[in-house]
Formats: sequence, structure tokens, C-alpha cells
Amino acid sequence: MPKIKQIAEGVRTGNIRALAKAITLIESRNPEHSRAATTLLDELLADSGKAIRVGISGVPGVGKSTLIEALGMMLIAQGHRIAILAVDPSSQISGGSILGDKTRMELLSREKNAFIRPSPSSGTLGGVARKTRETMLLCEAAGYDIIIVETVGVGQSEITVASMVDFFLLLQLSNAGDELQGIKKGVMEIADAILINKAEGENRPRAELARQQYENALHLLKPKSKNWQVPALMCSALHNQGIQEIWWTITNFTETLKQSGEFDEKRRLQAHDWMWTLVIDDLKDLFTRDTAVAALLPRLQAGVGQGTTTPSGAARRLIAAFRRNL
Ligand code: GDP
Repeated sequence: MPKIKQIAEGVRTGNIRALAKAITLIESRNPEHSRAATTLLDELLADSGKAIRVGISGVPGVGKSTLIEALGMMLIAQGHRIAILAVDPSSQISGGSILGDKTRMELLSREKNAFIRPSPSSGTLGGVARKTRETMLLCEAAGYDIIIVETVGVGQSEITVASMVDFFLLLQLSNAGDELQGIKKGVMEIADAILINKAEGENRPRAELARQQYENALHLLKPKSKNWQVPALMCSALHNQGIQEIWWTITNFTETLKQSGEFDEKRRLQAHDWMWTLVIDDLKDLFTRDTAVAALLPRLQAGVGQGTTTPSGAARRLIAAFRRNL
């Protein structure tokens, strides 16, 4: 059993080796490590929660890592400490995470005030999200005051990341003449700002056109907050243009929502949802491992598949068997 108090103290003082050890505990599948990780998180709870949490998403090639590098370097120069985490549910299938890869953020990876951690390689999105969320708390306890969680622009992972951050930034490209290409309404609804990247040189007029289209579309959506109109912005991550404006937008957002009380309320709701997700995940795990359930399951599942047992009848019998076995 690792020495939790010692690791916690190391994390608190910003010791990178202690932080890495703590994250390893969190990512471990060993049940003893999981219990140790929970104790560690309890121990560090009071030190977490102080960072601004920013989610960044967009399709591969849109410029996420280039933007994170530009934004991160600027923030470090302004005295911040920044942690970059990633949520990539495909990392196990693809045999390695593309997101949060240090080679993609060359300058940042050499900075002592930047901590870059690739996506944990757990099969399910839920598993990856859980570990990333807990790693975020550890990074906060270690004194990183800005956390960036990167994800790819494919459906559910964006919703998941949006549910763990304060501010969700959606990166887009401008394609002349196209309508709002590839942008799903659901994703637009979770964005706190839309950012058109590669808005430089001869591409700038196209980017401005796209920006206006997004802005118009955003005005048609029901606002999430009466105090925040989601803006459509432009930048050139590669040429370091518009980067400071993005940060001003983020701080303006957090200050506005802190004043109205929405910031704390959002965090409270996120924590409640998170608790329920864990309860449901863990219950499902307990349930499927239960011997009484395991004994009944093949027959009932087959019956449901063949149409000889109703799903509700099967569910009721499984739950009854589980409860009897408690
Ligand atoms: P990611 O897959 O979303 O992380 O995208 P990358 O940051 O790796 O960028 C993909 C490609 O777009 C790289 O070749 C970058 O150099 C390029 N790129 C990123 N930002 C800009 C930009 O603002 N302008 C231009 N012209 N190219 C960019």
C-alpha cells in the first residue's frame, strides 16, 4: 500500500514525481490502488477546485495542439501554471493517444510550468473521463491554476468534456461557400465560444464570413446563460494572432458567471452529476459481477433475444436476484 500521506504532501508541494505517482494510482485497475486513489483524492480535496478549467475540441487538423501551445506559452509568460489533459476514448483501439502527445506541443513540453498528460488508455469513454477528471483535481492540488482538457470533435466525448470544465471552446475551420459544415447543433449548444482558426492571409475573409455565419446561428440558439452571449471569434494559432483575445474571453466569462453565482452553481451541478455517474457505473459493475445475477443472466438474455421473455420481466428478475444476494 503506497504511503498516501506522503504522496499527498508531495502533490501539494508541486513535486512532479509525486504527481505522476498519484496519477498512476488513479489510472491503475488494481482495486487496492483504486481505494488508495480515493483516499488520496479525499486528502487533497480541499486543495483542488481553484483552477480555471477549459475544454478545447475540434476535428483532427483544426489546430488544437498549435493553439494550446500558443495559449499555454502566453499564459506561462504571464505567470500561470498550466496542465494539459486529454480525453481520447479511442486511445486503446488505436494503440496510443494522439491527443495530449508531448511531441505535438514541443515548446510547452520543455516548460517546467506546463504539465502534459496524454489520455488514459481505458476502453470506455466513461473510464477515460473518470480518470481525467480525477487527474484534473490532482493537478489543481499541485498548484496548476489553468487546466486544459483536449478532446476530438466526435460527439459524445465533447459532451463528456464539457461536463467537466468551466468553459468549453469549440475550434472550427472556415470553408468558403459551405454552410456551417459538420457542426452539430448539439455541440454548438454546449460551446461557450466558437473559434475559427487559421484566420490569416488570404484565408482571413473566408474566416470572417464563417465567423459571421456562426454568430448568426448562435443568436438563434436559446442561450445557456442570460449573462453570456456565446461569441464567434477568429485566430491564427500558427501566427500567434488573436490568442490574448481568447484568454480575455475566457476570463471575462468566468468573472461574469462568478458574479451572477452561475459559476459555483455549474460546478455544484457537475459534481452532483459526477457522483451519480460514479454510483451508476459502480452499481452496474457490482451487478454484473454478482453471482446470482451471473447465474441467471445467460438464460434471461437469450430469452429476451428470442422474444420469449420481456425485457422488463427479465430486468425485474435480475434485480430481485441481486437484492436477495446482498
Ligand atoms: P490538431 O490535430 O487539431 O491538434 O491540429 P494541429 O495543431 O496539429 O494542426 C494541424 C496542422 O494545421 C498543422 O500542420 C499546423 O501547423 C496547422 N495549423 C494550426 N494552426 C494554424 C493556423 O493558425 N494557420 C495555419 N495556416 N495553419 C495552422
